[in-house]
Amino acid sequence: MSERRVENELDKGYEPARVEPHWARWWEEQGFFHAQDVSEKPAFSMVLPPPNVTGSLHLGHALTATIEDVLARWKRMSGFNVCWMPGIDHAGIATQMVVERELQKKEGKSRHDLGREEFLRRVWRWKEQSGNRIAEQHRALGASLDWERERFTMDEDSSRAVREAFVRLHEDGLLYRAERLINWCVKDGTALSDLEVDHEEGVKSELYKFAYPLADGSGEIVVATTRPETMLGDTAVAVHPDDPRYKAMIGKNVRHPISGRELPIIADAELVDPKFGTGAVKVTPAHSFEDFESGKRHHLQFLNILNLDGTLNENAGPFQGQDRIKVRGPLKQRLAELGLDRGTEPHTMSLGRCQRCNSIVEPLMSKQWFVKTRPLAQQVVENVDEMKFVPENWRAELLRWMNNIHDWCISRQLWWGHQIPAWYCENGHVIVARKTPTACPECGSTQLAQDPDVLDTWFSSGLWPFSTFGWPDDTPALRTFYPNSVMETGFDILFFWVARMAMLGLHFMHEVPFRTVFLHAMVRDKNGEKMSKTRGNVIDPLDITAKYGADALRFTLASMAGQGRDIKLDEDRIKGYRFFANKIWNAARFVLMNAEGYDPRARPASIYDRWIISRFQRCAEETRSALEQFQLSDAANGIYQFIWNELCDWAIELSKPALYGEKTPQERAGAQVALFTALEGSLRLLHPFMPFVTEEIWQRLPNRSGRSIMLAPFPGPGPRDLEAEREMDLISRAIDGARSVRGEINLPPNQRIPLVLFTRDKAAFERHERAFRHLANASEVTLKGFDEPRPGQAAVHVEPEVEVHLPLAGLIDFAAEQARVEKEIARTEAELQGLRKRLDNAGFVARAPQEVVEKDRARAEELAGKREKLARHLARVTTVEAAMEDKNPQQAMPEELGMHRGPPATDQSSGTAGTARPIPEPGGAAQAETSDESLAARAERVVSRVKSIAQGLMEKLPSVDEVVSKASQARDKAVKKTKSAAAKLKARSAARGAKKARKKAARKTARAKTGSKRKPSSRKGKK
Ligand SMILES: [Zn+2]
Ligand SMILES: [Zn+2]
Repeated sequence: MSERRVENELDKGYEPARVEPHWARWWEEQGFFHAQDVSEKPAFSMVLPPPNVTGSLHLGHALTATIEDVLARWKRMSGFNVCWMPGIDHAGIATQMVVERELQKKEGKSRHDLGREEFLRRVWRWKEQSGNRIAEQHRALGASLDWERERFTMDEDSSRAVREAFVRLHEDGLLYRAERLINWCVKDGTALSDLEVDHEEGVKSELYKFAYPLADGSGEIVVATTRPETMLGDTAVAVHPDDPRYKAMIGKNVRHPISGRELPIIADAELVDPKFGTGAVKVTPAHSFEDFESGKRHHLQFLNILNLDGTLNENAGPFQGQDRIKVRGPLKQRLAELGLDRGTEPHTMSLGRCQRCNSIVEPLMSKQWFVKTRPLAQQVVENVDEMKFVPENWRAELLRWMNNIHDWCISRQLWWGHQIPAWYCENGHVIVARKTPTACPECGSTQLAQDPDVLDTWFSSGLWPFSTFGWPDDTPALRTFYPNSVMETGFDILFFWVARMAMLGLHFMHEVPFRTVFLHAMVRDKNGEKMSKTRGNVIDPLDITAKYGADALRFTLASMAGQGRDIKLDEDRIKGYRFFANKIWNAARFVLMNAEGYDPRARPASIYDRWIISRFQRCAEETRSALEQFQLSDAANGIYQFIWNELCDWAIELSKPALYGEKTPQERAGAQVALFTALEGSLRLLHPFMPFVTEEIWQRLPNRSGRSIMLAPFPGPGPRDLEAEREMDLISRAIDGARSVRGEINLPPNQRIPLVLFTRDKAAFERHERAFRHLANASEVTLKGFDEPRPGQAAVHVEPEVEVHLPLAGLIDFAAEQARVEKEIARTEAELQGLRKRLDNAGFVARAPQEVVEKDRARAEELAGKREKLARHLARVTTVEAAMEDKNPQQAMPEELGMHRGPPATDQSSGTAGTARPIPEPGGAAQAETSDESLAARAERVVSRVKSIAQGLMEKLPSVDEVVSKASQARDKAVKKTKSAAAKLKARSAARGAKKARKKAARKTARAKTGSKRKPSSRKGKK
């Protein structure tokens, strides 16, 4: 029996740790992750960026795995033959360092003590023991990788591919060995490619000046340098050819004060900037990339002064044996003794450091292997349109690099890696071969030695999209899965990896290696800081999954994947999605507990049934379209909204009377079918993001079909019921309004109160009377016509089609409440004043850490919003009636800061005395008008406006009819205005001369535009 058995009942709480490992194992054992080499289904392929064998899962890996697994699961459910290729990178230098360190610690030996062969044996042993940890960690995340195909960059097949690629590039004239200036790490004892050097900018340093005496004794020439010690390797002094100061010296010689050598003074317009330093520079062709080029132009001597360990060699004369950094002091002292020191000035510079060990990288002359990259890059430039880029701007980045590319130094002086397939005979012939040669084809010598160096790790991973599918053989898998469908990785390795795969893929396979390049952002802490051990802000994904489950971590990462270059991760958010998993669990429990007599053939009966099924269809459509655009965060957030708000908060609540048998059997059956349909469907939508909890629930549903949710079809398009959606939109807005007004006047949640609805369509609301009782906790619901008079002492929520009145008399002690609210307002205002004072202080804003200022600003906004709400509430308790025209009193804060609203309220209470103001366009004029104001000034305005609203309402109590009629005039206009042109409304308003109403209309229009907000996590601003 291959099915995993689950209990029919759901436990009371969802425990990810008990569930996740079982499903991960079961899916893999069942072969659900495995792709067919040949299949009727369309192919979808990706290669996982092979993590380093030394690695342990960090958030970057978790993000990569999450995004790719979402794509893989979605495509698999959509009928694709999905191959997501797992692999591990041998990570040459990193691994060698780990094993060397361990060797030193445990046995006190270096790799040289063991010798190459024994050392490599130890590395392999280490790899077998410790190197698979990261694969296990990927399994625990639920990554549906095709584990049967798992590869290692040093396994036999990969090694064969690497050797083949090297030999072919050599045959094609794209590979050469030459003595060149390269980046050398003295600590790791190896060459590095340009990309492996990090440039530390803005390093405070000094510009040191010293004099070279002219050889003929006619004077001196002063040079300026940031690295005085390299003067030991100088072979010229260069000036600009047009510099009048030095024109006469060009062609003369100077005498080296340490070695006594004579060096020429040359003119080099490319090298020398006459405005820099003294206008004369020393030239060290063997230790500077710029000087190297100058040395070639002028046929200078290339004098190497460094040993490979960073000490000075015999060319340094008296300084031989000293470290190249420590020698600076003694050298300067010697020059001073010789009377040649000409002073220093401060200088900032950029310093190249080894990416791996952080030591200062030395340009060094060395014989290395290089890939001639220009012809390869040219192919990428010509074929770049064969690839889609997400986000699109990376295309230009890639092209920029391709157009400025340098040859790629691929040899590394390490032991761990692919040893270079080149052999040297005793007569200096070079043999590059697929198989180990026995004799030199040129001289017949059998004294052959293989090049001891290994290849750059990125050389083997550059072949990954095709070497993993069998290349150099022409295999069915290669034909099926190349080009890969998507290459998804962090943008930080665009050049390291993506560019090299593109170059090598096009060269060897004559086709781009992937159709889509999808680059994701970097994960940072909640303040946008890079996570690092020294900062102590690292979030370890393993801790997180232990605490909240892999589903919660995955959902968090996916829902944030849409953020530009940084993903600011906050543990609270992960915790929030852990609650989300629980929410679904509880919803499923409820539905299953009320499943008795479930008949899958039943038809949806009520408008609630039709509505939730239609909303599910809408969510499915939006999810698919977001995924097709690689907008994973939009997809995740959309599903979240649907499940949390519509399914759990509304549909389940609305179906309770039917499920509890308070309605007809048909209605009960209809509610069961609707809930199971929406639940089962939304689990399938959610599955790619949260594979575990969805499988755990799905296996218990009576309406599932198939063995696993991961094989079930991804929800497709289906019919919508727009009529039901329209009606429910109206009802839900009214209920939401009643709820938020309840919240604002601090009614205990369980206190039932009567509701009075003034509506144009009594019949529609009559159908939903129970919903109001149930969801707005109404003791009774009275329906009235729109033209009937409004009672006093009521809190009101206004929608275009309905006004919801909560009569307050008898519910609260007005005097006590007034005292309480006034106190609260005073407290809020005091805090707000304090904050504003700080924020208005330019010195504070400039000096304080960014996050502190941000925090203060956010708090000020919060307080201003709170202040306004309190004032509104105060108006309610201090007046016999109040026209509450807020569409949604729990509106987001920024709107409450007056950014989108019309004229300040001071005008509102001043009767007809004020001058007419133009009606601002929504978010237009009003926003422009205030956009330059400081936040504090805006807050100030809000406070004064709020004050006057409250005062106005307290002092001036118009008759009930007056208020209501003005409110409804304003509302009518607002509605019309949103629908028709603003000018039309202006004209009409002017005609009526109702200035007050017009202002209200403008405010309301602006507000209406912002829409309602009742979501724990809004989609807004996450693009
Ligand atoms: Zn290093
Ligand atoms: Zn030979």
